[in-house]
Amino acid sequence: MAIFSASPRVWRRTMPDHQLAETFQATAKAKGLSPIILHALYLANLASPDRRIRQRSIHAMVSELEFAALLGIRWVVLHPGSHGGKGEAAGVSQCARSLEEVLRRTAKLPVGIALETTAGAGGFIGARLEHLRDIIDSCRLRDRLSICVDTCHIFVAGYDIRTAEAWENTAQLIDKVTGLSSLTVLHLNDSKADLGSHVDRHTHIGEGRIGLEGFKAIINDPRLHAVPMILETPKSDDGSMDKTNLERLRSLVYRDRPPRS
Ligand code: MN
Ligand code: MN
Ligand code: ZN
Repeated sequence: MAIFSASPRVWRRTMPDHQLAETFQATAKAKGLSPIILHALYLANLASPDRRIRQRSIHAMVSELEFAALLGIRWVVLHPGSHGGKGEAAGVSQCARSLEEVLRRTAKLPVGIALETTAGAGGFIGARLEHLRDIIDSCRLRDRLSICVDTCHIFVAGYDIRTAEAWENTAQLIDKVTGLSSLTVLHLNDSKADLGSHVDRHTHIGEGRIGLEGFKAIINDPRLHAVPMILETPKSDDGSMDKTNLERLRSLVYRDRPPRS
């Protein structure tokens, strides 16, 4: 399961009190909801060339990690941000410096940040796996950094995942660049837009340009059996599409597949 700590479109975060945090953790345990991932606010831009925006983003990210720690959440997913016209290399190094500060200010918390792959429009870094690797490699506190692969985002960023063979090539590339062991979360979304288009439009599983064959390869990949997978497909008015998307994915699971570790 994935949650936000507040609206992702506002800066303000309110910490849960002790009672609420305890109820949350007890309920999650009773319902078997594990792991739970926190998605950081959309406003945060650690790569921004504007110092004020960066400071505000660092402050907000420290709050997100504190919030996660109170709820027993291990990973916070973050969009690495936009370089604001300064170029990818500048954005990557700015993001790394900001992240280092967030990690330093939260040094005692057992919470890490998973950097999400992006579609790569509007100056957003993270469309290339190398961006995420370079950010992680330049942080001294890199043990608390990992990556989140969003299937829609990597596809429109140019990584083909439409067939078993295409997924295998992309998986090997991920392994070569960042290491598959650094992949701690997957977002499963089909894509309305084409391979390499850099257009971020999520759609229902099997109804987009990725298609069922790609998802079949991903969800049956034994290397990913311990990696949580989260749906971010569009909501229908009656809420029924979440169930439909989940059923579609479950129908693709090989019946003779070894149990998830
Ligand atoms: Mn995201
Ligand atoms: Mn995503
Ligand atoms: Zn997206």
